[in-house]
Amino acid sequence: MPDLTAETAAVEDRLATVRQEIVRACRDAGREPGSVTLVAVSKTFGVEAIEPVIAAGQRVFGENRVQEAKAKWPALRVRYPDIELHLIGPLQSNKAREAVALFDAIHSLDRPSLAETLTKEIARQGRSPLLFVEINTGGEPQKSGVLPERADDFLKDCKEKYGLRIAGLMCLPPADEPPAPHFALTAKIAQRNEMNLLSMGMSADFAAAIALGSTHVRIGTAIFGERP
Ligand SMILES: *Cc1c(COP(=O)(O)O)cnc(C)c1O
Repeated sequence: MPDLTAETAAVEDRLATVRQEIVRACRDAGREPGSVTLVAVSKTFGVEAIEPVIAAGQRVFGENRVQEAKAKWPALRVRYPDIELHLIGPLQSNKAREAVALFDAIHSLDRPSLAETLTKEIARQGRSPLLFVEINTGGEPQKSGVLPERADDFLKDCKEKYGLRIAGLMCLPPADEPPAPHFALTAKIAQRNEMNLLSMGMSADFAAAIALGSTHVRIGTAIFGERP
């Protein structure tokens, strides 16, 4: 038997540290701490690692893959009905049905075909996950996301052509560059398109993201430790 009590205490410490740093970053930026949602990224971690984080009071979680989330979360959600689950990784159109059924938010809308499929599934299931459009701020070919110069047109199409309500924007800055300019660019695109939510910032850079307006920080390593 793993020592759940010791594990929970360690997780409580890490979670408390992250929460304190969020509060401090908000204070430094003159923002309300309640304006930032902590999304605990549990990808690659099993139920045994997730439960102590739930026990420590965390309720909003992020996963990268639909299949993995489907294997882990439905049973946990029966026991903890107030869990909120966010999809933060790329979404294939053929998984859109399952994604709409399972997730409360999708951070990775990035192309017309997916917008079209999501529109149909949202209508069919009568479920409306919070939607973020992902911006590929670094223009990295291997990454998903809409290029910054195409963002305005894509957002307009989401609204006018597909009737989708987009809540905000998400970005994942290039690993080898300072993230702040990427956060600033994402915030600027959101502002001119009248969007309130920004999914930006991970373990290494969430304070900078909060300074630039992030409302959803996606934090894995600082809570769960290094991924296996
Ligand atoms: C894994 C992942 C995170 C969390 O990264 P950490 O550095 O572990 O905090 C955040 N966002 C996305 C899109 C991810 O894939």
